[in-house]
This record gives sequence, structure tokens and C-alpha cells, in this order.
Amino acid sequence: MTDAIGVVSRVNGPVVHARGSMQVRMGELVGVGEDHLVGEVIGLNNDIMTIQVYEETSGLTPGSPVFGTGAPLSVELAPGLLGGIFDGIQRPLTVIEAKFGEFINRGIQLPSLDREKKWHFVPSAAVGDSLEGGATLGSVQETILVNTKTMLPPDVKGRLAWLAPEGDYTIEETIARLDDAGQQREVSMLQRWPVRFPRPIKERLEKNTPLITGQRILDSFFPIVKGGTAAIPGGFGTGKTITQHQIAKWADADIVVYIGCGERGNEITEVLQEFPKLIDPRNGRPLIERTVIIANTSNMQVAARDASIYTGITMAEYFRDMGFAVAIMADSTSRWAEAMREISGRLGEMPAQEGYPAYLSSRLAEFYERAGRTRNLNDTEGSVTVIGAVSPPGGDFSEPVTQLTKQYTRVFWALDKSLAAARHFPSINWLTSYSEYIDSVSNWWRSHTNQDWRSIRARAMELLTEEDHLNQIVRLVGPDALPDEQRLVLETAHLLTTGFLQQNALDPVDTYAFPEKQIAMLKLILRFHERAEAIVKHGAVITDVQKLPVIHDLLRMKADVPNDNLALLDKIGQDLEEQMDKLEARYK
Ligand code: ADP
Ligand code: MG
Repeated sequence: MTDAIGVVSRVNGPVVHARGSMQVRMGELVGVGEDHLVGEVIGLNNDIMTIQVYEETSGLTPGSPVFGTGAPLSVELAPGLLGGIFDGIQRPLTVIEAKFGEFINRGIQLPSLDREKKWHFVPSAAVGDSLEGGATLGSVQETILVNTKTMLPPDVKGRLAWLAPEGDYTIEETIARLDDAGQQREVSMLQRWPVRFPRPIKERLEKNTPLITGQRILDSFFPIVKGGTAAIPGGFGTGKTITQHQIAKWADADIVVYIGCGERGNEITEVLQEFPKLIDPRNGRPLIERTVIIANTSNMQVAARDASIYTGITMAEYFRDMGFAVAIMADSTSRWAEAMREISGRLGEMPAQEGYPAYLSSRLAEFYERAGRTRNLNDTEGSVTVIGAVSPPGGDFSEPVTQLTKQYTRVFWALDKSLAAARHFPSINWLTSYSEYIDSVSNWWRSHTNQDWRSIRARAMELLTEEDHLNQIVRLVGPDALPDEQRLVLETAHLLTTGFLQQNALDPVDTYAFPEKQIAMLKLILRFHERAEAIVKHGAVITDVQKLPVIHDLLRMKADVPNDNLALLDKIGQDLEEQMDKLEARYK
């Protein structure tokens, strides 16, 4: 930090006013007070600057100095991010915990990324070549799971005059020299990027590959694509965090960025304790090797939530630029919106809906717009999938954050209080949720499972919609008033909701289902319906169908059939046919 550039004139929670130099720029990162509390200039009016401070400001008094940095709020991007746990302004929480215990002292100055650690760099660019911004220089096997690219910063180009030979380097050592029209540029593995600006790309690409999460209601019913956007709105205790954790654990993304934004501290602790132990079902490696966790700690100001969102999405873009499929989760964007409301209120801005600032809408839009599948500057193809939890007060989806988020996301996984109360998890309502990516992913399902996923899904949805309609009648007159064909619909819908949609995150088998298992399960349930329907038409009574032992298997297959033994589903299929044959014979 440099000399003082101003003097604090007023402290209003996370908002600090200072009088001083006209030199400071909008968006500049500053150190506030003798402790150098981290802050960002969010307003300038002549010599008065308004600063949003990311750390607790109690004890800060008028007259304290403000120090400039000359740089905007930025993140450090280099090897060392993966497996890391950072706070909203990218301070390394694991390192801080090891050094200082759990409590974070204010104004701690620690580099975000390890300066001493050496990484094994393997060069790949050719000396003499003219390189554009973002070009690949080489690679580093950052974790066993992930080989990261070393890239030129997007704004650096030139003829490659020298490239370091294969060997071990710290992130600050020069690994390349460029000649940009006579100007020499030295490049290390470390680059910085101002978080409020999207990293540049070449072009946006079509999105047609699903992000497979292993969660049946998501993949089979309301899929998200790689590069797409989804919202998980739900009241307290409906399963937002568990759903996001499940995606972070099991999604077939190359890289996961998980932002714990303003939620309860014990949830963050769970992430920190649980994630390092998780094993990827596809390759047996610890999942933390592909994960970056950003967590606001309880002693940070609300403003830090804002920083954590931007820090996270910028890291996601950096990995996207290497050609990775990145998934980013934010839990919860409502806490971020509340932070905006608080700051805005303290600034005395004119409030819009429910006290939120008018710019809430554009901030949310800009966040979700940073999702996408892209051709990057170095011609790799990558994606950033953005999944935001929304916690509407009282679970009322008509409030502004839910409504605005709905405008900017293409998938809506609506969590439902009554399902959660009935302990139906994930409590995602299959009637009010939607995905606008059904068309986009149909081909993937066909080529990967050889099945007509689209019509199978449509048939299942049709039965569930019919069940909803029938349930309204049942509420009035009871189930016995329904003809057997309709009671069969209720029976099949029960198999769909309990046997398929309900999925226990805590069950070792059920927690994750391969797409092949998902579609085979759906087909079995639909086959059950098809056969039973024909037999009921022939005069069988529904109670005979309900006695079939295969129903039990259909309800249990989610937890009884492991992903690596799908032949067991064929066995259930054979039993189903035999039992139906027998029943049919009785009515011939
Ligand atoms: P929220 O974040 O919406 O407040 P949580 O994600 O913490 O809610 O979920 C609340 C509780 O619901 C969890 O502690 C867990 O008991 C239960 N739950 C939610 N989803 C699942 C799931 N998929 N499987 C099992 N239990 C779940
Ligand atoms: Mg939660």
C-alpha cells in the first residue's frame, strides 16, 4: 500500500466516507485506517469518496487515513487456486486458520496464492511465434485431476522472445518474455484480473451438452446445459444448500467454484469439513482437487458478499479460458441482494422494490450473463454454468430477487415447502419447475443412452400432471370414487415421485445416479404403467396390480441398484414382465 490518499470523515457501518485526493479512481481498492481494512471506492464526488469496506469497521474513527492501491478489486489467477478455500476478497482461509487460528484478524495482509511453492511448468508455445492475448504458453499439472494451462493475460500480446524450459517455478518467476512492437513484456504464471469485468472471449457458442448432476429430477426432468443458468429458489430448510452441495459434488464439470455467500456459518463449516473427504465416482480422486471454495466468514461485513460473487465468477472464467467446463454455485444470491440493499440504504439512494436498489436487476443480469459456452482467446472451448440459490423470505416467490432471477435464468428448480415438510427430497416441485433446455439436450441423451429421452420424459411428466389433476378430485371425493384406470395413474405417479424423483443425498448409492440408470428406471416405471393399463382395461382390479411384488422393487431400485451394476435393472424388468404375464393370464 502507498501513502495516505485521504482521511475518513464518516463511518456508517460498511460505508465509509473520506475526504482526500482527487487522484483516486472509481472502483479502486483502498486500505482504510491504520489496519488497512480492505475497501473499494464506490462513489466519488469532488474530493469526497465513498468506500464500501469488506471488513468489520467498528473502532474505525473519523480522521483515520485511507491508503490507495492504484488498482481495482482484482483476483490473483495462477496455480494454487484448486483445492483452495478463500474469503470474498480472496484471502486464503486455510492458511489464515493454520497461522492465526479460526479468527481472522482485521486487515490481515497475506498473499492470496502461495509465493514460495514451485509448480512444474511444461512449455508448449513456440519461441518466435506471434502470440495474441490469452494464448497458451504451457501447462502445469496443478492437481492429479486437473492439468491447468498457463496463459498470457488477455491484455498481453507480442512475439514470444523467450520461454522457460520445463522445470519448477514459483508463480511470480518469469516464464516468458515477449516483444510487443519493441516493448518488452515479462510474464509469470500469475495474472490479476479486475473482478467486475468479464474476461474477454472470442465468441459465444451454442449450448447443447447437459451438465449431468446425478440428481434425477434435475437431469431427467429439468436439465441444465453446460454454460447455462439455473435458479434454486426456496424458503428456509427446503434444500437449497443440499441441492447445491449435491451438484458441487457430483456434476460432471471439470472445475467447481462454490461460493458460500452470507449463509449460516455452520453450513460453511460443513463444506470445509465434508468436501475434502469426497471422492469422485468417475475416477476415484478427491473432488476437492477440482474445487475452489469461497466463503464469507461471519466477522466480515455484508459488503464482502458482493466481492465473493465477483471473485467467484472471475475465477470460473479463468478456468473456462483454459477450455474447462466450469460450474459455479452461489448460496445464496438473496444474501448478496440484501447486502446491496443495506449498502444502498446507507448511501441514501432512492429505493426501488422492497427497499432494494434499482440496480439490483442489472447486477443480477450481469452475473448470470457471465455464464455461457465460449470459444476462448486461445481457441479452446469452455463453459461457465451458473447456479444461484435464492432464499425468498417466507418462501414467497413473488418477491423481487426471485422474480428478477427468474428473468435471467433458463432453469427454475422451485423448492416446495410442503414437499420438504413431507420429507420428500429434493423438494423440487415437478409442476412449477421448468427448464428451457429440453430441446438443446435431447440429442445428447439420444447419442449417449440410445434412448428417446425426450418422449420418455414427456410421458412421465404427463402422468404427473394427470396425477395432480386427479388429486384434486380425490381431495373432494376420496380415491375410491375414481375408476381403476385413474387409480392406476395414481399408483404409477407414486412410483415416479417416490421411486424416481425422491432421492436421498445421504444414501451412498442413491446420492448419485448415472444417466443410464436414470433413463432405465424411468422406462421400467413407464413399462409398469403400460402393461398394468392394458390389464386393467381387460378387467383386472387395481388392488391386484397393487399386490404385485415388483412394485416394491421399483420403489427400491434407486438405492438397491448401484450405478456399476445396472444389470439388476434388467432383472427387475424380467420380473415385471413375468408378473404382468401371470396377471394378464387370469383375465384372458
Ligand atoms: P436450505 O439451504 O434451503 O435452508 P438445506 O439444504 O439446508 O435447506 O436442507 C435442509 C434439510 O433438508 C437438510 O438438513 C436435510 O435434512 C434435508 N434435505 C434436503 N435435501 C435433501 C436430500 N436431497 N436428501 C436428503 N435430505 C435432504
Ligand atoms: Mg441453506
